[in-house]
Amino acid sequence: MEEEILRRTWAEIDLDALSHNYRAARDKIGADVRYLGVVKADAYGHGALQVSRKLQMLGCDYLAVSSLDEARELRRGGITTPVLILGHTPPEMTPQLIRHNLTQTVSALAKAEEYSQAAEASGGVLRVHIKVDTGMSRLGFLVRGEHFAGGVDAIAKACALPCLDAEGIFTHFSTSDSDEPGDRAYAMEQFSVFTDVLDALAKRGRRFRLRHCANSGALARYPETYLDMVRPGIALYGLGDDAAALGLRPVMSLYSCVSTIKVFDADTPISYGRMYRTPDRRRVGVLPIGYADGLFRGFSNRLELWTPYGSAPILGRICMDMTMVDLSALPEVHVGDALEVFGAHQSADALAAMLDTIPYELVCAVSKRVPRLYMEHGRVTERSLRILGQA
Ligand SMILES: *Cc1c(COP(=O)(O)O)cnc(C)c1O
Repeated sequence: MEEEILRRTWAEIDLDALSHNYRAARDKIGADVRYLGVVKADAYGHGALQVSRKLQMLGCDYLAVSSLDEARELRRGGITTPVLILGHTPPEMTPQLIRHNLTQTVSALAKAEEYSQAAEASGGVLRVHIKVDTGMSRLGFLVRGEHFAGGVDAIAKACALPCLDAEGIFTHFSTSDSDEPGDRAYAMEQFSVFTDVLDALAKRGRRFRLRHCANSGALARYPETYLDMVRPGIALYGLGDDAAALGLRPVMSLYSCVSTIKVFDADTPISYGRMYRTPDRRRVGVLPIGYADGLFRGFSNRLELWTPYGSAPILGRICMDMTMVDLSALPEVHVGDALEVFGAHQSADALAAMLDTIPYELVCAVSKRVPRLYMEHGRVTERSLRILGQA
């Protein structure tokens, strides 16, 4: 990759921070609990292949993605760790699932039957994890309230199908990242529905090698939910409300650099819509980053970017490809200097809070035209630019 591409806007992915976060969780869960790293959505924007390679090296037991395409990317890239597909895969793709040694989530009996038939037709057995809907009300076998007996029965039938290997069973919490008492009670209620389902299935002789439910929120709050395996995503990337309590470090930092500096007289309207007018003479930096890179337009006229000499407020509207910042109070900042959008000095969590959203959305939004620089021991070990189709 050409150096000049790198000096536009780039994301640094600190693989040492990733290792640290992985080990911190490992220490917390103990030796008997397995670790599934969630690497869906290109590892929350961090680069699924690079993150998965690192996790595989560290001894991670399982990975999870949302789709067959994401899973195939990992297998093509040489990842041999077991991979669970959390979302739907059309049953006609079953031969591919088997060929790539993937684990498919099964969320209803009708689907289980289709998968089993497709597996049988292709002469194979499909490894599956049963998804139980204990209160997220998304995918999963319905088991709450009046659905309990029927749900347990449907799961038992799905597991008994001839060409499915029901290795695991899981559920997903909707409020485990909240300390609000009602939310805590709801998470505990979901967990008790899940354990009731497990008990009912055990009574029928159905046991699972991998029972899992702890996402990042539950990893931080509810050790009793670890069961056989934990399933964190955001905690792996060092973000979320629990990052500090768990002693985690943010993995991604987003930078842009000053491409041009201009001095404008008082009362000059800056950018689209004249949202900002200079109150006096201002030294303005133009940055080659915009909402098409993942800098949300909602930050227009609100956010300040970090420099070693102080922060540089964004002036006016964020454009698709460019953003203006006020450098009047920062004479030390010159053309070519880097500004941190988020990272070690200014957290993605804090930025997300400004827009009333979650850090997940911010890191996922860093677009494919932003090169990722993979850092280890303070050195760049790999550069990846998705827009050129490089891994
Ligand atoms: C995304 C996801 C996770 C990870 O959630 P975090 O809040 O990032 O820890 C775990 N399980 C399922 C089913 C998911 O979809």
